[in-house]
Amino acid sequence: MNTAKDDRYFCQRILSEIGEKGQRRLAGASVLVAGCGALGSNNAETIARAGIGRITLVDHDRVELSNLQRQVLMTEDDVGRPKAKVMAELLGKINSQIEIGYEITRVDKENVERLVRNVDLVLDGFDNLPSRYLLNDACVKHTIPWVFATVAGTYGITMPILPGQGPCLRCLLPNPAPEEVVLTARNAGLINTIARAITAIQTTQAMRILLGSPDYPVKLVTYDIWQASFSAQEILRNEDCLCCCQGRYEFLN
Ligand SMILES: [Zn+2]
Repeated sequence: MNTAKDDRYFCQRILSEIGEKGQRRLAGASVLVAGCGALGSNNAETIARAGIGRITLVDHDRVELSNLQRQVLMTEDDVGRPKAKVMAELLGKINSQIEIGYEITRVDKENVERLVRNVDLVLDGFDNLPSRYLLNDACVKHTIPWVFATVAGTYGITMPILPGQGPCLRCLLPNPAPEEVVLTARNAGLINTIARAITAIQTTQAMRILLGSPDYPVKLVTYDIWQASFSAQEILRNEDCLCCCQGRYEFLN
C-alpha cells in the first residue's frame, strides 16, 4: 500500500466502509450526473475526488453570474460557457486518473434512456421536477439506481431509488406538483450550505450503492440547515405505484 503522502485515496483505503476492495469498485464504476446546477456540480466534484472511474456530465445550460453563489467548479471567467464543459475541464485537473465525459444537451424523453442505460448509477442534479419524473421512469425501466435530491430555501430532501428493491420517486410523490407551488432556488432563494449538505448525503448514498451496501430499508432524509433540523424516515414501496409496480412509464411515453 502507498503511503498517505503519495496516495490520493489513502483515507478511503484505510476506511473500513470503503477499503482497498471498495476503492477498486469505485474506480470501476460509471456515474451519470444529470444536471449541472447546485446539486450536480457539488455531486460531480465529490465523486471525482472520491475516484469514481467514469463520470458523465449532462446539462444544456451556460454559466451565469448568479450561479456562482451555489454552484461549484465554475468561475467568473466561465460566464457564458456551457456548464458541462466547464465542469469537465476543471474535474480533469482535480483528478486526471479518471475518465470524464460530457454532453451539452437537455435531458429529455428522446435521450434519457440512452444516457442511463450504460451507467451504474445516476445522480439527480436537476433543478426541476418534470426532469426527475422522466429520470425515474428511465431508471426504473432499465433497473439503474439513482439518488433523488432537491433543495430550496434552507431546506432539502434526498432519497436513494433502488429499482426492484425499494420505493421509486412515484411511490413517494405519485405525480409532480403543479409548477407554481414547487419551491425552487429561483422563487424561494437558496442558502448555498444546504446544497453542500444535501449533496454530501446524496453522494454518500451513491457510494454505498456502488459498493454494494445500500442503506436499506430506504430512508427519505429531510434537512433544514437553518434550523439544524434533520430527519430520516423509512419509505415503503407503494404496491399500486404506476411506475415501479405496474411498469407504466407515463413520462417516457
Ligand atoms: Zn414506485
